Amino acid sequence: MQGLGLTNNQNIKYKLVRSKRKTLSLQINKKAQLIVRSPHRLSNKEIEKFICEKSEWINNKIALSQSNIVSKHRYIENEDFLYLGNLYPLILSKQIKALLFDGKSFISSIGDKEDFLKWYKSAFTKIAIPRLNYYADTFQLKYNKVRIKAQKTLWGSCSKENNINLNYLLIMAPVAVIDYVIVHELAHTVYKNHSKMFWALVASILPEYKNSIKWLKENGYKLHSL
Ligand SMILES: [Zn+2]
Repeated sequence: MQGLGLTNNQNIKYKLVRSKRKTLSLQINKKAQLIVRSPHRLSNKEIEKFICEKSEWINNKIALSQSNIVSKHRYIENEDFLYLGNLYPLILSKQIKALLFDGKSFISSIGDKEDFLKWYKSAFTKIAIPRLNYYADTFQLKYNKVRIKAQKTLWGSCSKENNINLNYLLIMAPVAVIDYVIVHELAHTVYKNHSKMFWALVASILPEYKNSIKWLKENGYKLHSL
């Protein structure tokens, strides 16, 4: 299964510690930083190659660690919530039944996690499904089924059978980022890897896709603040 981690597959930052040890080890510390421990004999190139091969595992671990250190929402009056890359305040009002968005703010009577998850899932489905079908039809990238769910470490994935999963927490990201994740997973219906040809296909559909990778790398953890 191909998964898209919370950070990009390229330019993974790490701290290198060389010592008398015999094997290479990777560790994610409490600050969500990658620590690479290496024997003296290995060249930087060999270390880079190893990191590259393990990038999927590293990205998932970093994402998990980041999501654990992110400050969680308290659901109080005027607290800001993300929607399509912008922040909107929460207004608490007893008259409201289910969470409501009026274009300027979120309005809720209780304002809790479940309230937001439900609203975010529904909003994401309305926005993402037509976009998924638009890109699939326009670029003839046929997928089988799509599932919308919240996930801790992946923004999306595409199985061997071309079933696509999309993480609805992406509703907090700008539309360009949602498009990138959709196109990334659709490109996996053609290439089950992250080869040059895979990235060339993504770039041919979304020439600016690197900005979205950068956005996810810098802001991805914020999408786990509920
Ligand atoms: Zn991928």
